[in-house]
Amino acid sequence: MSYRVTLIPGDGIGPEVTQAARVVGDATGVSIDWEVAEAGEESIRVSGSPLPDDVLRSIRKNKIALKGPITTPIGSGFRSVNVALRQQLDLYASVRPARAIAGEGTRFPETDLIVVREATEGLYSGVEHWVDREHSAAETVAVVTRKASDRIIRFAFELARREHRHRLTAVHKANIMKTTGGLFQTAFREIAPRYPDIAADERLIDNMCMQLAKKPEEYDVIVTTNLFGDILSDLCAGLAGGLGVAPGALYGDELAVFEPVHGSAPKYAGQDKADPVAEILCLELLLRHLGETEAANRVFRAVWETIGEKKVVTYDLALPGYTAHPVPASSCSAMAKEIARKVPLVDPDAPLPRPRGAGAVNDPHLEA
Ligand code: NAD
Repeated sequence: MSYRVTLIPGDGIGPEVTQAARVVGDATGVSIDWEVAEAGEESIRVSGSPLPDDVLRSIRKNKIALKGPITTPIGSGFRSVNVALRQQLDLYASVRPARAIAGEGTRFPETDLIVVREATEGLYSGVEHWVDREHSAAETVAVVTRKASDRIIRFAFELARREHRHRLTAVHKANIMKTTGGLFQTAFREIAPRYPDIAADERLIDNMCMQLAKKPEEYDVIVTTNLFGDILSDLCAGLAGGLGVAPGALYGDELAVFEPVHGSAPKYAGQDKADPVAEILCLELLLRHLGETEAANRVFRAVWETIGEKKVVTYDLALPGYTAHPVPASSCSAMAKEIARKVPLVDPDAPLPRPRGAGAVNDPHLEA
């Protein structure tokens, strides 16, 4: 059996890291027929549009995609392809696991969080304008609806239950943003009693940032609105080891798109230098979504061992700060090749030697 999956290479380092994920995917033995669809800068050059209809058609047809990062011009230029993709395909749930890998690159080796972010509305609704002709004032409108809030909160509780997590924290700013924040808070309070097996609590966004910087191991799953989720998922990526190792997933009711937290890092484009791990861990999440659990476990284990060994790692994982003992940096393709080499060799069921955080209690990867 072969799976047909849309592949969007993206911009900057995107083509290199998605190619790395393909190499690792091939090593799993799972047959994936990649349907390549261009979006972003390359697509503007070829078709005049950063998000051509055939990209959307391909994802709607295959129901699943692996995506590289796509550049968004800052302040002007075309609208974010990433935001448009989420809105047009109604990919309302952005899920970003932040797992410290092999205890490396983090002061918090017990970090094992999942950030669930509402991805279609809030301050990213695209409702913004200049107030006057002189451009001396501007407004961006936060749109928060009960429908989208209910949907993301239910999604987060269901995910927590499915992943055997035990705590869900809703993050908002309902003390100041009494309507948008208040609506999200009310939805959370009404839905939480339907999930008595999950401990539900709330934090204000500012307090949450401080708590995460001090004791991330006490948190488990976080659900929040669009902008707060964007910021918190980068914060959590940093706690767990950095952007280079942070994967993400976008889910709608029927569709799923897997993309790293990091952007297109244009300064490293075409140099075979970027860290491929985030995109490879997106492949791991994709394999889990397909029900290919053993292959997913193999990929995760192979990444873990490669980072733990520190023999073939990209520059960001070779530096002091990531590792106590700096090592020579390898290329993106060499690291992908090393992970791919390990995939068939690792024991996918062997427990991973790592201290456990509060969020990791039922993680099948971890030993007791
Ligand atoms: P970025 O994530 O591209 O880069 C931030 C820093 O992390 C840079 O120093 C970069 O070199 C480094 N970095 C990122 N990924 C890395 C990797 N895999 N290996 C090694 N180093 C890595 O963020 P940015 O510079 O703010 O954004 C660049 C472009 O990417 C912008 O146009 C932005 O809009 C876009 N972007 C796209 C997505 C997406 O497609 N989902 C997400 C974030 C940013």
